[in-house]
Amino acid sequence: MPLRTPEEFVQSIADLNLEIYLFGEKVDDYVNHPMIRPSLNCIAMTYELAAKPEYEDLMTATSHLTGKRINRFAHIHQSVDDLIKKVKMQRLLGQKTGSCFQRCVGMDAINALYSVTFELDQARGTDYHQRFRKYVQFLQDEDLVADGAMTDVKGDRALAPHDQADPDLYLHITERRDDGIVVRGAKAHQTGACNSHEILVMPTVAMREGDEDYAVSFSTPANAPGIFYVYGRQASDTRKLEENDLDVGNRQFGGQEALMVFDNVFVPWDRVYMCGEIEFSGALVERFAGYHRQSYGGCKVGVGDVLIGAAALAADMNGVPKVSHIKDKLIEMTHLNETLFSCGIACSAEGVKMPAGNYQIDMLLANVCKQNVTRFPYEIARLAEDIAGGLMVTMPSAQDLFSAKTGPWVDKLLAAQCDTPTLDRMRVMRLVENLTIGAAAVGYRTESMHGAGSPQAQRIMIARQSNMAHKKQLAKDLAGVGNPAGPQKDKLRKPTAVK
Ligand code: SF4
Ligand code: FE
Repeated sequence: MPLRTPEEFVQSIADLNLEIYLFGEKVDDYVNHPMIRPSLNCIAMTYELAAKPEYEDLMTATSHLTGKRINRFAHIHQSVDDLIKKVKMQRLLGQKTGSCFQRCVGMDAINALYSVTFELDQARGTDYHQRFRKYVQFLQDEDLVADGAMTDVKGDRALAPHDQADPDLYLHITERRDDGIVVRGAKAHQTGACNSHEILVMPTVAMREGDEDYAVSFSTPANAPGIFYVYGRQASDTRKLEENDLDVGNRQFGGQEALMVFDNVFVPWDRVYMCGEIEFSGALVERFAGYHRQSYGGCKVGVGDVLIGAAALAADMNGVPKVSHIKDKLIEMTHLNETLFSCGIACSAEGVKMPAGNYQIDMLLANVCKQNVTRFPYEIARLAEDIAGGLMVTMPSAQDLFSAKTGPWVDKLLAAQCDTPTLDRMRVMRLVENLTIGAAAVGYRTESMHGAGSPQAQRIMIARQSNMAHKKQLAKDLAGVGNPAGPQKDKLRKPTAVK
């Protein structure tokens, strides 16, 4: 089929009849629920921009499987150029939505599984890679959204998956049948899960002996029998239920996370891509995480662009755009934001071709990228709050602005720079609030910390990739350590006797 339109995408998600629970109740018309719809609008934007000629180069790619034009979110990266365009596409979408647009997890999952299944087959003589290629083609041909589902709830972190008191704390195989497997457990923090056609499950940690039932990767329709979703809360989320949407800040867009439960779900063999091969689970985790750590060098930068713009607008509206410390803070925010982008581009530019033929980011630089993301958005947010001022968190509500009694007073008293309507000033303040401590702060702050792995996970990878032996050797060579006949010997002066 040709690429879907945004409207077709939304309808196709409605047609899935997903089992979603919010505030303890099943939500039937979830695509029109005011707390859910903004997150759908975000993914719809990935369809909308793909149809615009000016974004075609970033938003679409040519499938290496079929030669057809496809949405880049379903593409297997074929070059360094593809890796770079991915990051630029994510920055663009962050700018357009000011939110997490969710579709990247599936893109990162298919690229990680593409190379891992190839190498697994080489080692074990299995046929996972061929199965997986067919699945990727299905996603591309149908222009589908896949949720890359990795994170388990994990129970007692000191125990291996098979040692947990409750086996469901890690998703696992409960039955191996002639026609497929049955799985049980959950995936937590699932970005865009309720806006996805397909779920692509991967293990969450490197596995050891005894964990064979937990080393499992497969895909399943998002509405398969036994799957249901418990919708995650966000700060100030019930503001989306209010009649006037001024206090929401970002009126159209938002992110989404859900707890996804697998209550004995059947998966046919042609949708299974790892089944007990414990030695490959670590590589899959590292590669998916690596791609997603690259992703943050795009999406968070795009959202950062919006936040910097909102802070600059707040300064304009306060009449202080020329004050030197304000200008300097905006420079600092830009410097930090572009440093994140530099990391996203750098790990892409240093990408390498994998044995399967696809391209992978430089792992060290991708982990450095994400490590910076655990810090810089916090500083950018701090500076935005500094510039915006305290009104951002003490301002009266939309109802007070429009009330017959208080409205004229709120309108008059919150006026600042004379050409700025109070309503616009309140809109900008609410956007800063939304991005820094409101609903979108899930994506911009806490997700910057924990999404794609918590900071310590990157530090472990940085340590592993840093090649310290090489660095030590460089220092030894220059210092002449352990090399009495080394190049500096002739130049050394003899110590002179102390008189
Ligand atoms: Fe994409 Fe960023 Fe959301 Fe991850 S956090 S799904 S990379 S927008
Ligand atoms: Fe994320």
